[in-house]
Amino acid sequence: MTPIFPGSVDAAGQPATLGVLGGGQLGRMFVHAAQRLGYFTAVLEPDAQSPAGLVSHHHIQTTYDDPAGLAELAQLCQSITTEFENVPAQALQTLAQTRPVAPSAAVVGIAQNRIEEKAHFTACADVSGVTCAPYAVIETLAQLQAVQNERADLLPGILKTARMGYDGKGQVRVKTAKELAAAWAELGSVACVLEKMLPLTAECSVLVARGWDGQIVSFAPQRNVHVNGILAVTAAYEGNMPSVLADRARDAAVAIAQHLGYVGVLCVEFFVVDDGTEHGGLVVNEMAPRPHNSGHYTIDACDASQFDLQVHALAGLPLPQSRQHSPAIMLNLLGDVWLDANGQLQEPDWQAVLRLPGTHLHLYGKLDARAGRKMGHLTITGPDVDGVKAVARRAAALLSLPGLDAI
Ligand code: ATP
Ligand code: MG
Repeated sequence: MTPIFPGSVDAAGQPATLGVLGGGQLGRMFVHAAQRLGYFTAVLEPDAQSPAGLVSHHHIQTTYDDPAGLAELAQLCQSITTEFENVPAQALQTLAQTRPVAPSAAVVGIAQNRIEEKAHFTACADVSGVTCAPYAVIETLAQLQAVQNERADLLPGILKTARMGYDGKGQVRVKTAKELAAAWAELGSVACVLEKMLPLTAECSVLVARGWDGQIVSFAPQRNVHVNGILAVTAAYEGNMPSVLADRARDAAVAIAQHLGYVGVLCVEFFVVDDGTEHGGLVVNEMAPRPHNSGHYTIDACDASQFDLQVHALAGLPLPQSRQHSPAIMLNLLGDVWLDANGQLQEPDWQAVLRLPGTHLHLYGKLDARAGRKMGHLTITGPDVDGVKAVARRAAALLSLPGLDAI
């Protein structure tokens, strides 16, 4: 693909513009990175007050599959990406008829469906060196019964809808065959996978960026702590996990991206499981075809963030191998931080938080705080790991944030 140079103007006088389908916080941080480099931006998002729409040069306010909205996005932009996984793959296909789109509709389609995603992980297990958790597909009553009768090894397990799951939504933990049947009914008898519950000792994720020409760069794995199925803490520093596992995770993520012919930023999530070996085993969980919540620390702790790399990849610019200059801990700020014990809104004590050294506050411009809603994040950087941990603990205490005990 011909590179789109930042700050350039075409023959018709139109400035170089990058587009994003979806208006959430990932789109907002993409827009920030694109604008810093000199690009104009366009966001297609139905919500009038979306985090990305509010900061973009252009906001096309239509549904994701609106033909006129998509046509306008394609007309305004030289290249287009997506910021949330559940965007209709068909919309990306429509855009791809006239513009470069990355990641492609085909790979987004794979990541949108746990059944296809697991099939992909299995297909490239030889090159990636990792497999996913033991699982079975449940799309029909006959399959449910077969699993109940023949796959006792998958219980206790987690039943996950094949589509539209995020932040632990669309998942039910089940212990018995009876509970499994009830859970499948509760989820509307839609296509699901039943995954064996694994003894996790840790979780991590790896960010990879791959260009149109196949150039590939990666970040070191970050360690993640989830609370109630939602990411709470990301720890990013040397020693956050045994280096043998870190190397394996990084190599696996690169192999998975290559095998997909992926273009853009990809995040691959892994489990570390207790398998009796010294460091534990690595199991691939899922992938996100975009920058990821667990990579937000790269904005403050690295010389090129995950969003910078997404911009570079999309525009056909060289991909810098990002260098992390500071250890970092990221704390997610959910709407709960704004709610007191009685569920009343209260302003968090930002004065006290920002007085702590090395704190970087990112709020996404969402005006109504709700429990469990991602409102922002706080990254703590510093010259050494112990100092970063100490400040993170103080910030977490001020904001009553969970999850730090695990690191
Ligand atoms: P995301 O917000 O990452 O999109 P999601 O809703 O797609 O999340 P998963 O990543 O599948 O969900 O699961 C959420 C969390 O639940 C995991 O990070 C892990 O803590 C736990 N979990 C999921 N599957 C398993 C499993 N097979 N064994 C043990 N724990 C699991
Ligand atoms: Mg996940």
